[in-house]
Amino acid sequence: MSRIILHVDMDSFYASVEQRRAPSLKGLPVVVGSDPKSGKGRGVVSTCSYEAREFGIHSGMPISLAYKLCPDAVYLRVNMQLYKEVSRRVMEILRSKAIRFQQVSVDEAFLDISEEVVDYKGAVNVAQEIKVQIKEQEGLTCSIGIAPTRSAAKIASDLDKPDGLTVVEPDRVAGFLEPLEVRRLQGIGRKNEEILQGLGIRTIGQLARFDRDKLVDVFGKWGTGMYLLAQGVDDSEVEERGVTRSVSREHTFDVDIGDSIVLYGALDNIAGLVHKSLQNKGFSFRTVSVKVRQADFTTFTRARTLDHDTRDPDTIRQVSGELASEFFNGRKIRLLGIRLSNLGKNKLRQTTLEDFIKE
Ligand SMILES: [Mg+2]
Repeated sequence: MSRIILHVDMDSFYASVEQRRAPSLKGLPVVVGSDPKSGKGRGVVSTCSYEAREFGIHSGMPISLAYKLCPDAVYLRVNMQLYKEVSRRVMEILRSKAIRFQQVSVDEAFLDISEEVVDYKGAVNVAQEIKVQIKEQEGLTCSIGIAPTRSAAKIASDLDKPDGLTVVEPDRVAGFLEPLEVRRLQGIGRKNEEILQGLGIRTIGQLARFDRDKLVDVFGKWGTGMYLLAQGVDDSEVEERGVTRSVSREHTFDVDIGDSIVLYGALDNIAGLVHKSLQNKGFSFRTVSVKVRQADFTTFTRARTLDHDTRDPDTIRQVSGELASEFFNGRKIRLLGIRLSNLGKNKLRQTTLEDFIKE
C-alpha cells in the first residue's frame, strides 16, 4: 500500500523569525549569518529573506559576496537560541498531527500520515491545517510537499516556496521527477552533478533511463542508489519518535583558552570521543556541527553537511577543525562541542543499497 508522507519546511526560517520579532524588518532584505565586517567578513550567509534573494543572495554564500550584492541589507548574527525556541513550538504542532514524525533539522520535518488520513485529499486538509496553525501561532509560513516517498515529498516542498503546497500522487511520481534537474535528488551534490553531466545526464528522467551498470561503474554502490531514487523508488521510513537523531560531546575548560594549538588539540579529543559514541551506536553521519562558547558566553554553532554518509573519524576531525577555525583567533573560549547528525543506519541510501547487495 502506498504511503502518504508530508515534508514540512519553514520558509527562510531564521530571517522570518527575525522579521517576526522586529516588524520594522518586514519587507526589507534581511541577511542572517556571520558579521559582514563591511565586506571583509569571512563567514557565510545562514539564511536570508526573500527580499534579499532578489539581490541574488542565498544561503551558504560568502557573507563578503552578499555584502557586495547588497550592502544596505540588514545584517544580523545568528540567534540560535531564539530560532530553537520557535522551532520547538512549530515541531510541537507538527508532532501532534502524526504518530510517525521525524524532525530533520531546526526548520524541517517529515510526517507519515498514512494512518491518520485515508487519501491525498485528506492529506491536503492536514497540510492546510498545519499552515494555518503555524501562521496563527507563530506568524510564519512554511512550504509542504506531499508524496508517497520521503525523497519525492522533500523535493516537492521545495518547488513552490514560499507558502507552497505541492502534491504528488502515487501514480504521478515518475512524471513529477522526470523534468527536474538531478541535483534535486538527495545525495547528489555539485560533484556528482558534474560527473553526471559528463555522462550527458541533466534531468532525473535521463538518470532513470540511463544504464544502471554504467552508473555502478562510475559511482560504485551509490550508482544503484541514485538510479533507484530517479525511478521514484525510496522505501526509507519516517522514523518513529525517540530515535537517536544525533550524537554529541562537549567539553568545558577549567580556565578559558585562547591558544589555538591547545584548542585544536582539545577539538581532536572531542572528535575521538564523539566518534566512539557513534561507533557504539552503529551509526554513520552526514552532518558535523561544532559549538563554540566564548568566555563571555556568546555561543556559536557551525555545521556542514557532506554529500555522502560516512563513519570516518578523520572526517570528523577535519570538518570540525575547519568549522571552528573562524573562532580560534585569540579570543578566549570556555566550551567546545561537536555534534554528528543526519545519522544513517536506516537511512535512504543504506537501506536501498543493502536491499540490492542481497540481490
Ligand atoms: Mg527552510
